[in-house]
Amino acid sequence: MQDLPDISPLLVALNSAQKDAVTAPPEHRLVLAGAGSGKTRVLVHRIAWLIAVENVSPLSILAVTFTNKAASEMRARIEQLVTAPIRSMWVGTFHGIAHRMLRLHWKQAGLPQNFQILDADDQFRLVKRTLKALDMSDEQWPPRAVTGWINAQKEEARRPRDLVDLGDYTQRQYLRAYTAYEASCAQSGLVDFAELLLRAYELSRDDEQIQAHYRRRFGHILVDEFQDTNTLQYAWLRTLAGDSGTMFAVGDDDQSIYSWRGARVENMVRMEHDFPGTEVVRLEQNYRSTGTILKAANGLIARNTNRLGKNLWTDVGDGEAIQLYAAFNEYDEAEFVAGRLREHLDGRCRHADLAILYRSNAQSRVLEEILIRARIPYRIYGGLRFFERQEIKDALAYLRLLHNRHDDSSFERAVNTPARGIGATTMDRLRHIARASEVSLWTAARNAAGQLGRSGANVGRFVQFIEDLHAQTAGQALSAVTEQVIARSGLREHFRKVAGSGAGSGRGDQAEGRLENLDELVSAARSFESDASARPAAEDPDMPVLDPLTAFLTHAALEAGEEQAGPGEDCVQLMTLHAAKGLEFPVVFIVGVENGLFPSMRAVDEGNLEEERRLFYVGITRARRRLYLSYAELRRVHGVEQIGAPSLFLKEVPPECVMETRPRTGVLRPAFGTREPQGAYGRGSGLTPGAAARRTAAGRDHGPGGFRLGQRVQHAKFGEGTILGFDGDGDRAQIEVRFRDAGVKRLMLGFANLRGM
Ligand code: ATP
Ligand code: MG
Repeated sequence: MQDLPDISPLLVALNSAQKDAVTAPPEHRLVLAGAGSGKTRVLVHRIAWLIAVENVSPLSILAVTFTNKAASEMRARIEQLVTAPIRSMWVGTFHGIAHRMLRLHWKQAGLPQNFQILDADDQFRLVKRTLKALDMSDEQWPPRAVTGWINAQKEEARRPRDLVDLGDYTQRQYLRAYTAYEASCAQSGLVDFAELLLRAYELSRDDEQIQAHYRRRFGHILVDEFQDTNTLQYAWLRTLAGDSGTMFAVGDDDQSIYSWRGARVENMVRMEHDFPGTEVVRLEQNYRSTGTILKAANGLIARNTNRLGKNLWTDVGDGEAIQLYAAFNEYDEAEFVAGRLREHLDGRCRHADLAILYRSNAQSRVLEEILIRARIPYRIYGGLRFFERQEIKDALAYLRLLHNRHDDSSFERAVNTPARGIGATTMDRLRHIARASEVSLWTAARNAAGQLGRSGANVGRFVQFIEDLHAQTAGQALSAVTEQVIARSGLREHFRKVAGSGAGSGRGDQAEGRLENLDELVSAARSFESDASARPAAEDPDMPVLDPLTAFLTHAALEAGEEQAGPGEDCVQLMTLHAAKGLEFPVVFIVGVENGLFPSMRAVDEGNLEEERRLFYVGITRARRRLYLSYAELRRVHGVEQIGAPSLFLKEVPPECVMETRPRTGVLRPAFGTREPQGAYGRGSGLTPGAAARRTAAGRDHGPGGFRLGQRVQHAKFGEGTILGFDGDGDRAQIEVRFRDAGVKRLMLGFANLRGM
């Protein structure tokens, strides 16, 4: 008798609906279920089941995840479940998979073998330069808008030739920009993020051999977070599946949060139509959160009208109430978070079990400041990534130019960084020559340095420098090449000078950091040279072996830095709500739950609250045991202090789930005539008439002595602090200040000798 595989580990900890989905016969399936109901778990077990029980080769499986991190976690979890080697299985993000396909079939895709990836910032700069070359002014044709438009066209699979001329002037100009931008990408061998997907899609659609190959190969396509696929990704999946591949998609319409990037939640409905016989599976038991957290999430999302409708329940009990903290300002809010973090850390929580989520990246700065001061290690997930930093991109531009001289974007960046006496006029002339003779900037510079006037000699020297660098570093290890680039280009010297000149000032510190980052880049390069197995791409035998430089540059553009710090360290996790999708943490803080911030001003203006509400739903449902929400009454936004009202979403959370915490200072809190006078839930805001009267018409809160609530002040003995409140008037006026090091103090205003900052 044939040995049957032991299937028990594949089905352990699955409820019956989950088991049905995992073990179903190979037909199209859409698992439509709420947060924390085990969708990702079902997807992982399904893959393991296909391999272990249905004897499907890992080669026939294509699994699409939302981040690279999710992909490697998925791989690791499947490895625990099956004995078969799964190295050859394609698991990755849409971009990662598209990139892999284009590296394999670069010729058929019409790309040079050494094509490079243009990240969002590079793309923006290139569009800007393109507009300039077309004499389209920034004021009339904002480069951001044009970039967004081009990407939107690509996401709908529209090339310039597919766009019908509507005789409309604006559209014609956009089209002109799109066409010219495409031409410069082609000339430089550059591919932006949207282009990766579009090329891979066109390749699978138009090249019959490739199409047949992948349709034969991928019998099983599995997609996580399906609600956030865009039109192009969906079309690509359809093309790859053909009539023979089966689709297994999992998603939650209530967690669709990327419509601003082209995601189409309708794909969930379209799937039932486009993949005949799709069976829809619903999972209703939530295994992640406490009853209270789930009730809050359910109550909130019920306010949305546009839903496919789901019900979630749990049997783990209510757990603790959600804590809501009304902070004076963003510093007070951050202090609150730090205080609670410390309690949890003292209570044996790991740092990594604690997450702070926010609506906008800019909110992390104050949190970081307070966490550093509190000596709590943290990591920002998906902030400004290492490879997106200015100094790193400067150094990479040289590496890219060594790799491909016709990469105009890199030429533009490297040629005058650090300054080499090549002015704007010279560059304009050079661009003009390049355009007129349809060659790259490099070629133009080499041939025409003599026609560029006085600074032409500097251009000539730059060309010579790159050639020499190339000759001298040929055959050297990647880290050595990187080191030479940093040293000989003058980049290190440049940042050293800045660091030296601005000692003590912010600028000097920043330059110090940049020098460290440049050193870090050399170490990063080292990890790409000797041991090929350490390279991310190497786990896939189908992936052509890239030379270390290409592998490194690709990693820099595509796979790098979803996590900022090195792995392994136990850190509190900071990230935007968008980046938190799919993740879970025992303890979650959502900060800045204020109107204008969350929901964002833009969403309020556009009346598009449903997506913001879904984002809040995503945030709440990340929490397993404890959830903290906070808002600040005063917040500095772009340098201007603004008064915040608690988010309208807070009122949509069932009040019995929430416990409002008041600041521990005991000071009487002023309230705002223009906003909720009674806190988010109308419980004791401690308003005094005097305090209310001190509000000016502009809504600002002025205390005695010309101080403002939330203002930063300096005290001779206690140092720096933040004003938390005022009490009394005239001679007896007191002021309450939270000092950075000395804690909260109540001082007689007349004697305190405070200096405003
Ligand atoms: P999201 O919508 O946030 O992506 P999800 O539906 O993908 O959530 P999972 O992350 O797969 O949910 O599961 C949530 C948590 O519940 C995980 O910790 C998972 O291990 C656990 N879980 C799922 N199903 C079960 C089960 N049957 N028994 C025990 N734990 C389970
Ligand atoms: Mg999931």
